[in-house]
Amino acid sequence: MANHRVSGHLVPDAVSGHVALEIVNTRAGWNDATQREYLVSYDALAVWAGDAGLLSATETRRVRALGRESPVEAQRVLDDVLAFRESWCSVVTAPWRDRPFPPADLAVVAHAVAAATDVSVLVPREDRRVLPDGGTWRSAGLRLPLHRAALAAAELLATGDVAHVGQCAGHGCGWLFHDPSHRRHWCIMAICGNRAKARAFAERRRAERPTG
Ligand SMILES: [Zn+2]
Repeated sequence: MANHRVSGHLVPDAVSGHVALEIVNTRAGWNDATQREYLVSYDALAVWAGDAGLLSATETRRVRALGRESPVEAQRVLDDVLAFRESWCSVVTAPWRDRPFPPADLAVVAHAVAAATDVSVLVPREDRRVLPDGGTWRSAGLRLPLHRAALAAAELLATGDVAHVGQCAGHGCGWLFHDPSHRRHWCIMAICGNRAKARAFAERRRAERPTG
């Protein structure tokens, strides 16, 4: 896990290889008690979505302004995003855990995808695919980041690439990454890998210390 600062907010570095996995990586500490939350406000969500490429610069500016105008509604959307992220994490890591997709979490993801599709038009992309856009800042308003995240999740599910999602074993991390080789252990070797090595070294030293 690593981060950088954008427009006054700490934003996680994009290391996963798929934007749908970056959504999960807006929190660290999935696998233990030490948690780090990046989506601490609607404004932080909007800035992250812009940094991750889910929103254009104009869209980011617009939804941030909407968030300032309607803080109560913005908080409600943020709560929905956090609930979506929780369910999406359970769904997307199910193959890695060798478990079936959890039906209740799959239903939460399906609901978010349906809401996004509802306000979408189909937009041709540079790679010749034609995909729903999740609406505009006018039609989707504050929900635009959630719509874009849900559609990214649907896209990943449709490719079957969830079979190649790995989770970082780093202490206080648990970030996800796309790992077709199934050999990657760390989100960032230089951070989580080295920390784990240092911890193992310290534990060995402790064990070797004579007692009594
Ligand atoms: Zn990590």
